[in-house]
Amino acid sequence: MAINLYTSEEVNLSEPNIGDEELEAVLTPLKTGWLTQGPIVGEFETDFAHKHQVEHALATTSCTTALHLILIGMGIGEGDEVIVPSYSWIATANAVVQTGARPVFADIQRESFNLCHESVANKLSDRTKAVIVVHLFGLCANMTELKKVIPDNVKIVEDAACAVGASHKNVIAGSLGNAAAFSFHPRKIITTGEGGMVCTNDTHLFEKLRTYRNHGANVSDAKRHQSGSPDFLPDFSEFGFNYRMTDIQASIGQVQLKKLEKLIAYRRQYAEFYSRELNEVEGLDLPNIADCDGHVWQSYVVTVNESSTITRNQLMAELKNKGIATRPGTVAIHLQDCYQKHFPVTSSSLTNTEYCYRNSFAIPLHNNMSQGNLKYVAETIKTLTT
Ligand SMILES: *Cc1c(COP(=O)(O)O)cnc(C)c1O
Repeated sequence: MAINLYTSEEVNLSEPNIGDEELEAVLTPLKTGWLTQGPIVGEFETDFAHKHQVEHALATTSCTTALHLILIGMGIGEGDEVIVPSYSWIATANAVVQTGARPVFADIQRESFNLCHESVANKLSDRTKAVIVVHLFGLCANMTELKKVIPDNVKIVEDAACAVGASHKNVIAGSLGNAAAFSFHPRKIITTGEGGMVCTNDTHLFEKLRTYRNHGANVSDAKRHQSGSPDFLPDFSEFGFNYRMTDIQASIGQVQLKKLEKLIAYRRQYAEFYSRELNEVEGLDLPNIADCDGHVWQSYVVTVNESSTITRNQLMAELKNKGIATRPGTVAIHLQDCYQKHFPVTSSSLTNTEYCYRNSFAIPLHNNMSQGNLKYVAETIKTLTT
């Protein structure tokens, strides 16, 4: 298909990459009638654990529920504090609130959009039980620096929602802390519609989470089916949840996971293209490619800086007029109503968070983009900023 670079066209911010293989795979659970968590979820977990080089993977209904499970499994609750970045999707902090613990907001670094180790050090207290380290937009946080300031008795939870397949210094996300939570929402690298995954090397924690995921039952539905005795019921020793993934979702996830390396390779090419093309735009700060080793580019986020002749919101509106979809990078959680009301931040220590919240936005990057789409986005941004 020939594409004219200078006519307007619709370019979506994000699109899932679903092909014939996924369409075919999803028929299996529909035909066998095993629709809830069953054998395919088990296979998907094994594949995912293997790919992320961890002992255990546990599929959930979302990354949000994966985070909640992890925190509950770690025994975190009322009276405890959990340090989180404020510049993240709101679910990162909501998962903490749902346990009864207090989210304590740390600031980020402008260059990486990830937690600043110095800010984390400043927020530690006797009550700190965990730090949720977010690998935002697909770039792993600087775990080397963070681990230097986080004491051994404080757990590290990776919010790896955007970071399937990402790595820090050749160590893949999922094993960079005590436990990690991934997302398969359609805006992430691979998708199952809704869905999430816990990864951990902690067998004791894993066993607990498996129970909590299934109402606190000490055996799975599959085991119950296999037991053979009709009066067999599990014991319930804990108050649990229903956070089970379905085999319908896992059948799609299995195929998506097989494509992971390819999807990431294309995303890296697209990101490099943007960085090359937009490099000369003075009013825009770009992700620093030199520091982006292991980045999987869930989003390509730029920041409109002080020298720009056009504001972020004006630029986004102009791009929309040209058929190019964009979105603000993410929210500043501490500025949202429910957080201002219940967990007000008094000191002004979140300056980078507020700066990025106001000035950053994501431009289209997904696996269905054509060369023409990429050029059109880059050319349009260049035209609008000069
Ligand atoms: C998307 C996202 C989540 C939530 O993932 P769900 O699977 O939609 O629950 C959490 N944290 C971050 C950083 C995200 O980007």
